[in-house]
This record gives sequence, structure tokens and C-alpha cells, in this order.
Amino acid sequence: MTWRFALLIEPAPADDPRTDFAATFEVVDAATPALSVGELSTQRGDGIFESIGVVDGHPQEVAAHLERLAHSARLCDLPIPNVEQWRQAIAAAAAEAPRVGEGVVKLILSRGIEHGPTPTAWVTGADAADFRGARERGIRIVTLDRGLDSGAPARAPWLLLGAKTLSYAVNMAAIREARRRGADDAIFVSSDGIVLEAPTASVILRLGDRFVTPAHDGGILPGTTQLSLFEHLASLGHETAYETIPVAALAEADAAWLVSSVRLAAPVSAIDAAPIAVDGELTAAFNRYLLSPRD
Ligand code: PLP
Repeated sequence: MTWRFALLIEPAPADDPRTDFAATFEVVDAATPALSVGELSTQRGDGIFESIGVVDGHPQEVAAHLERLAHSARLCDLPIPNVEQWRQAIAAAAAEAPRVGEGVVKLILSRGIEHGPTPTAWVTGADAADFRGARERGIRIVTLDRGLDSGAPARAPWLLLGAKTLSYAVNMAAIREARRRGADDAIFVSSDGIVLEAPTASVILRLGDRFVTPAHDGGILPGTTQLSLFEHLASLGHETAYETIPVAALAEADAAWLVSSVRLAAPVSAIDAAPIAVDGELTAAFNRYLLSPRD
């Protein structure tokens, strides 16, 4: 059966002390229109979002996603979300999720409706796309120039690099360009040759015994999946590091993955048409961990 769920939220101020926010929620039919045509999220992509993986009814890493939602809100001058209200909205969505299988709960906080009211917020729930092939066979990626040097995030904070905004048209265009070049996905690099992130995922490399991911100061989205996996790897005694990674290091990586909340860990099988070994056993271990209940 297809899971589709939608809940409109009347956003409460961050310091609203209520413990029960049920009165601020309205469950609506996910198959019928529910947004105003004046929505600035649809007109301008002016808003922020989160995608939370749901496994067998359990929403994964809720606290980390809410922390990042608040981070994005600060970067975008949106009202800071009330954490308890959003936690309850996520719980309401997850309560309706199938007890078996993978889903996704999306949180959206929009600038609102032109001429008010503002902001608007809602949560949706749906079945996840099937990523089993990508997790098992791997994905071919190409590097794409993001067209900005590594000083741009600090020099031009209004570009909102590092916020999870609704403006993903560029990210989707990069994936289409990757497909035109015969690959499955892309890794953005800065114009001065630093590895950044994929359009919808974080990059993790294995360099010898070390697991390395791009430093978060380079204007990338801090990934909740990468963070969770690094904590797990560290707890197993592995060395993990955040580094400035030159694009040349990709060719020397012993293994590479794209990781994100719904796809989980997809091993990279080729970078710019050069094959790279897929470690099936390690990837399966990553995904067993990522599919286990995580808070
Ligand atoms: N980087 C970008 C640009 C993304 O869009 C995403 C997820 O959609 C990620 C990284 C990975 O983040 P997470 O692991 O929290 O899903």
C-alpha cells in the first residue's frame, strides 16, 4: 500500500512553553491541494526543509535534523522552529507510517504567503524511493565545478551555502548533467579544486585506515547521516576526520560513498569514468547500522 501523509502546522514561537501542540496541527488529505497560490516556497523556493528517513515506523536522528532545521532557519532569517512542536509533528507523521519498510518524513518551513500570513509550515510522509540497487551495485559519479571558489561561503553568506533551502533546482540540474555524462550522480568541487558534496548527499572517502569527509567550513550542508556514521565508526575504533580534500585525492581513495538520510550509504563504483573498488561487505555493514533505530 502507498503511504501518503500530510500535516499542516501553525508554527509556534521557539520559546512557546506548551507541552502539547496537537491543537496547532491539521491533518489534511495528501492527495488534494492544501497550499495557497501565494506561497513563497513555491514562487521563490524561499524556505527550508529536512528529509528524515523512517525505518519500520521509526524516524531516524530526529534531534540532529531539528538542530539542522534551526541552523538553516538562522541562516535564512526565518523564525527559529519550536523544537517540541516539530518533534510532535514528526511523531504524528511516523505514527501513520507502515510498520515495515522505509519511508521519508519531510519538514518544510516556508517564508509564508505573499502579504501574509507568515511563515507556513507542514510535514509530509511517504514511502521512500527504492535505493537497494544503488546500495548494492554502487553508483558512478562525475565531478562538477560548482562555479564558486572555497572563499565564497565566507565572502558571500547571502548565497546560503550550508542551509538546506528549498531552492534545489541547481542541485537537480547537476544530477541531470551527471546523467548526460553517463553517470548516476555528481560530486561538486569548488572552482579552486576542493571536494564539496553531492547534490543531495555527503561524501565519505576511505584513505587507507582513515575515513575522511570534507570539512564543514567549505559551504556544504552538514550531513546527519555522515555524522551518525562517523560516530559509529569512531565507537568501533576507526579514525575519522574532517579535511580540506583536493579533487586529486578522489583518484587515490581506496573507497568512496555518497551518504544521505533516505538513500543511506551508496558506494561509488567510478569517479569521472575511472573505476574505484566497491567494498560490498563494509557498505553492507554501514547500511545495517544506518537501518537500525537511531536517535
Ligand atoms: N548535502 C546535501 C546538499 C544534501 O541535500 C543532503 C541531503 O539531502 C546531504 C548533504 C546529506 O544530508 P543528510 O545525511 O542529513 O540527509
